[in-house]
Amino acid sequence: MRPALLNPLFAPLSALPGVGPKTGKLFDRLLDRGQGARVVDLLFHLPHGTIDRRDRPKIRDAARDSIVTLEVTVVEHRPPSGRFSRGPWKVLVEDETGDAQLIFFLANHSWIERALPVGEKRWVSGKLELYDGHLQMVHPDRVLDAAALARLPPVEPVYGLTDGLYLRGVQKAAEAALARLPALPEWHDLAALQVRNLPSFADAMKALHHPADPKSIEPGSPARVRLALDELLASQLALVLMREHFRVQKGRASVGDGRMSAKIEAALPFSLTASQVGALAEIRADLASDKRMLRLLQGDVGSGKTLVALLSMASVVEAGRQAALMAPTEILARQHFERMAPLCEAAGARIALVTGRDTAAQRRKTVAALAAGEIDILVGTHAVFQDEIVFHDLAFAVVDEQHRFGVHQRLALGEKGSAVDVLVMTATPIPRTLVLTCFGDMDVSTLREKPAGRQPVDTRAMPLDRLGDVAHGLSRAIAAGAQVYWVCPLVSENEELDIAAAEDRFETLKQILGDRVGLVHGKMKGRDKDAAMDAFTRGETSALVATTVIEVGVDVPNATIMVIEHAERFGLAQLHQLRGRVGRGSGKSTCLLLYKAPLGEVAQARVNVMRETEDGFRIAEEDLKLRGEGEIMGTRQSGTPGFRLADLSVHANLLPIAREAATKALRDHPGLEGAGAEALRTLLYLFEREEAVRLLRAG
Ligand code: ADP
Ligand code: MG
Repeated sequence: MRPALLNPLFAPLSALPGVGPKTGKLFDRLLDRGQGARVVDLLFHLPHGTIDRRDRPKIRDAARDSIVTLEVTVVEHRPPSGRFSRGPWKVLVEDETGDAQLIFFLANHSWIERALPVGEKRWVSGKLELYDGHLQMVHPDRVLDAAALARLPPVEPVYGLTDGLYLRGVQKAAEAALARLPALPEWHDLAALQVRNLPSFADAMKALHHPADPKSIEPGSPARVRLALDELLASQLALVLMREHFRVQKGRASVGDGRMSAKIEAALPFSLTASQVGALAEIRADLASDKRMLRLLQGDVGSGKTLVALLSMASVVEAGRQAALMAPTEILARQHFERMAPLCEAAGARIALVTGRDTAAQRRKTVAALAAGEIDILVGTHAVFQDEIVFHDLAFAVVDEQHRFGVHQRLALGEKGSAVDVLVMTATPIPRTLVLTCFGDMDVSTLREKPAGRQPVDTRAMPLDRLGDVAHGLSRAIAAGAQVYWVCPLVSENEELDIAAAEDRFETLKQILGDRVGLVHGKMKGRDKDAAMDAFTRGETSALVATTVIEVGVDVPNATIMVIEHAERFGLAQLHQLRGRVGRGSGKSTCLLLYKAPLGEVAQARVNVMRETEDGFRIAEEDLKLRGEGEIMGTRQSGTPGFRLADLSVHANLLPIAREAATKALRDHPGLEGAGAEALRTLLYLFEREEAVRLLRAG
């Protein structure tokens, strides 16, 4: 049970004054909470900037083009001339050093007249600029009387917004959320806080949503560091708790006799790489021992992890038990299933697919067969977590995480059987520090080499204005039998706009390339998505326009050209993942990075790295370096996946501290039991480390 103390934070956001049903929906979207945003979600939505309104100069001394707050007397109103004129409404204001005009386009006239009565003193805040020899302020951000000025925060927080939600609204809601902040017990060692001069959780929240200075929201500020440390501690506590839980449970030995794996290998048109053989040996040794397996299988895109997973699962099936594989997306689950089905058939293993889109009848059939032990291998999406999915004897769970980091919940799959062995697969770009953070002390197998016969991908960069040439070049390649991915980025706050851009590109490419062009994006219905993917896989379409949904794992060996539009908006790891979709067959592959000129320094560095290397490890390291240099990226790409407050490109140095604190806490308070660990338990609940919370003894 969540401590009652935290209830105000987990109340729906609509409980806040000023958040109604309509704005509530906008907040859900902003905070990415399908089921309804809560107060805590807003508090964790930290400002990414500030507006400093402390500069209060005289008109004569006011800086141009930066925010100033002026004390002025209203001299006169100059309405637009002519009855139907669409010109601006101007208001002349002055102080003893000079005058300026306030400019309002299409504004509500009666509001202006009320807000700026002639002869009165007012404070106006905004940017002052010189236009046509006159000083002017277009649409002041604030028009205040003395009373309102007294309430004006000297430094305002600036938040990420979503269509229809205004800064003011988010600021007000954040204020109201702050007011609900309960006094929480301290979960850190006081000494550790003092050394770094860190505030309490509540004071940190106040310092960020109510900044006294623009510096207080910088990533290295005491407030940000405090919250990052909180989140990292919660994450490490969860990992250590789960790891211990895993350890104390004895595993079971699943020893296969190799009959199915041999048939699968015999059915392959190639032989395994040495890396694959090595990883398999490690995994099989774990499966065969009575120790519970918790292993990470790392391998760059295209290194052949899926096959390793299948052969490992076959060992378990040989031993008479069941195995499950969970994929992050529907498309990927289906693809895994379709690839594996013929091999399973050759080996006599029974495989089934479960996704969120099964019909009720299909689902009933799968559920019954699974419980009866008539299915050996279950492949699926998150659907495999559902309560109705009950295995006859699950011994091994494989989680294909690609480069997502949500391993915590995935371990819960281990609870679906007795002493289930768990293998997490991830595409490399995970540098060492991240492995530790995201996965704790798991065993690691790595696929270092790629299957033989792969040719390097020819990577080129080109400005976007050559898009027309590129498209025509493509039509020649397509006529010669090539298949092309065309990726449009998801970057704006507004997903609809991004999708509209992809749809637009789809139309233009159809005009140039003809009808054999497909489109797939995240908002499409599952069935339509599959149809588009299938058509491309089968070669019925030659070009596939896609948002980044294709990033994760799809495998079409005949596709040899990857075009990435607005490549400057992607991070290195993402570019590498995308490029990994080509160069899978024996044909020569090309990756075209179309960028908006001029390229910034960091974007240029990224393009260079992409051209120089296809080594996922190196790219991962360069990525961390470049991101550490304060690059500004689209909001969806910033920060560290799986974390809401910590950003490892800035806060990685806090990791060992959090790890040590977590280890010590669990040594002092085994199982986090007892009154002494109450604050730590509260922390786990605050950061919703549910999977770990479940392991806390009730009461
Ligand atoms: P990953 O999941 O690691 O990105 P996949 O498992 O999807 O990679 O494998 C990529 C492609 O390489 C697939 O088409 C697969 O059939 C093929 N493949 C896997 N192992 C080998 C191998 N040893 N030799 C040749 N091709 C292989
Ligand atoms: Mg894969």
